[in-house]
Amino acid sequence: MTDSSAGPASLTVEQLAGGIVAVTIDVPGRRQNVMTEAFLEELGRLLDSFERQPPQGLLLASGRPGSFLAGADIGRLDRLWDCSDTVIRDLCDRGRQLLDRLSAAAWPSVAVIDGDCVGGGLELALACDFRVASSSPATSLAAPEVKLGLLPGWGGTVRLPRLIGPGPASEMIVTGEPVTGSRALTLGLVDACVASKAAVPAAVQLLEWARGDGRHLARRQRQAAVVSLDEAEREFLVATTAAVIISRTGGHYPAPMVALETLLRGCAVPAAEAAAIESEAFAQLAQTPVARQLVRVFQLRQRNRRDSGFAKQDNQAGIEPAVMSAPAVIGAGIMGAGIVARHLRSGFTTTLVDIDADALARTVPEILDEAAWDRARGAADPARSHTLAGRLLPATSLAAAATADLVIESVIERTDLKRRVLAEIEAMVPAATIICTNTSTNPIATLAEPLTDPSRFCGMHFFNPVRRMMLVEVVRGPATSDATVATVVAHAKRLGKCPVVVRDSPGFLVNRVLSPYLHEAVELLREGVDPARIDRLSRRFGMPLGPLELYDMVGLDTAFYAGMVMASAFGDRIDASPLIPAFVKAGRLGRKTGRGFYRYRGVGPDARLETVDDALAQTLEPYRLPDRSATDAELTDRLFLPMLLEGLRLLEEGVVRDGCDIDLAVIYALGFPAFRGGLLAWGDSLGAAEILRRLERFADLGPRMAPPASLCDRARSGRSLAQPA
Ligand code: NAD
Repeated sequence: MTDSSAGPASLTVEQLAGGIVAVTIDVPGRRQNVMTEAFLEELGRLLDSFERQPPQGLLLASGRPGSFLAGADIGRLDRLWDCSDTVIRDLCDRGRQLLDRLSAAAWPSVAVIDGDCVGGGLELALACDFRVASSSPATSLAAPEVKLGLLPGWGGTVRLPRLIGPGPASEMIVTGEPVTGSRALTLGLVDACVASKAAVPAAVQLLEWARGDGRHLARRQRQAAVVSLDEAEREFLVATTAAVIISRTGGHYPAPMVALETLLRGCAVPAAEAAAIESEAFAQLAQTPVARQLVRVFQLRQRNRRDSGFAKQDNQAGIEPAVMSAPAVIGAGIMGAGIVARHLRSGFTTTLVDIDADALARTVPEILDEAAWDRARGAADPARSHTLAGRLLPATSLAAAATADLVIESVIERTDLKRRVLAEIEAMVPAATIICTNTSTNPIATLAEPLTDPSRFCGMHFFNPVRRMMLVEVVRGPATSDATVATVVAHAKRLGKCPVVVRDSPGFLVNRVLSPYLHEAVELLREGVDPARIDRLSRRFGMPLGPLELYDMVGLDTAFYAGMVMASAFGDRIDASPLIPAFVKAGRLGRKTGRGFYRYRGVGPDARLETVDDALAQTLEPYRLPDRSATDAELTDRLFLPMLLEGLRLLEEGVVRDGCDIDLAVIYALGFPAFRGGLLAWGDSLGAAEILRRLERFADLGPRMAPPASLCDRARSGRSLAQPA
């Protein structure tokens, strides 16, 4: 729309044949189309002008490849937290009324959806009489508001069930998951799904038909009416959906349940009344701490996508990351295989070297299966697997990596072997090649010693399983150059991962905060606390697994080794528990041997947990500590406060640039509950003074419960733990 007073336009208007106008969305200064305030104002002015001079039909499309329209500007959702209930309801009402003008206009309208159509963008499309989706893989339609702890507030809970029925609508709104163009057609969410090129002609055709027979008017009537849903259908929907919600959210996330109730209440009344119910529910959710934390986590993720990962004082001006195109991975074990599969999935032709030809032969089909996995069919896509096979270059000799521009070493965790392999790699590859290690426990400085040019070397620490764990720690050794770090950060992003830069320090970031938590769980066990209770309390806090279940999953032998590394670095406060070596000696290594803290049916990651192992009490006996009775709340503090204290120490030591990176890392690597906003955001929700008060109760446990100086400072100053200084 051309109004020079309002800055660059987001909407441009073009006259098509037959009195139809085409409006093209292209929001300036954004990577994708979002509903900025300027966009909404412009849309309002455009509708004013159409009301003065009505067109024969309106076609709404995007001028931005891959993006029809994402929702509201999430960067500005922060403003909601300080608004009153009435103001939030009013914001919803005003947005919805703007969209209502489309559905009440004297002319029919159609949205051409070629790319992402999300949140408010979907609500705008729903306000049109018709929708045409492209069959392009870039097209997806979603109402993801619940993922931010909210619900669609501009008519989504009203229009969607009236269009596609309450069952499918509640599935879309409650899960927030996207659907493709063809799925949208099956659901009745769009009227046609055609190739991108054919979408505008198909949309024009729909407008012409509507002009001829007024078919849009009948649809408008249905959209305004009550949705018929008898009591049995309603009860069935509530029972099945509520069960799924509770199993997925553990009762920690209110939005899905509120969204379901809002949608169903809205179905029972005319659309105009349903709209008021929606605004009220949106305002209720917008005032929950969960929504605030989820929006913050979303913003942290956005920051991570945009920035270089460096702290400001590292002065990154001018450093351009190099683009890697020929990666090689050394070591085809669990981790190497996952790293290669991720590279193939992201479009890289990748070399994989392992000295063990049999291991390589066994792993290659598994890698291809993982790389070609098709979520929709629940299996690998054979055609894709075939194509990817041509891009996977397996070899048993390091010489195969000689032309790589990025080499990721992932051989077994033995310092001498790693040092030798890294030196061999360096001797073979070009001078510009970046060399990374996936080590979990070796200092980068130690592994860098045999290298002639350690500036091109750093840690690139993936988490297991690579396909699921978003985090990659990019570990900067003392000699690592800024350019190396910037390149590895950029490469991790091209793999769709979330890289966090950390300095070389035992346990890096994640294992450092994990250690005190795992250690405390074992201490509680030694004090006679029931293992199932420890794990239950951790899950109730929001963790996906309890600490003892996690030990069994990781393997007690691996945990023993990692524990030794941490104890030798921080022995004043993190002792190596004597219980873990006793388990290892008894061959109770966790899931891999079918017995650890728990007993399993079968062995391996898929083994079924049966019960607490009956031999546990006997193994524990020599290491028992005096009983110490505690409430559930105290036990939960015992587990998580040491983790928080370690996070603060990481900040004090400058291992990580700020608390936001710690929060993101624990969410993406440990499954720390996002509704708590991460480790330090959880600390902030308690407040430094309250944390100090709680720690007093555990002062007799020694240095591990001693508050670091920065916590005392923050208690005095009232400064937040999580926010950057
Ligand atoms: P793994 O034992 O499953 O596999 C190691 C592979 O390295 C084996 O296939 C072995 O044949 C191969 N190998 C040994 N010497 C080699 C050489 N000289 N050249 C080429 N290949 C050689 O190990 P993994 O669990 O995949 O761990 C690999 C690395 O990743 C380790 O440094 C480990 O600390 C780290 N890591 C592991 C995990 C995990 O959960 N397993 C998580 C994060 C990081």
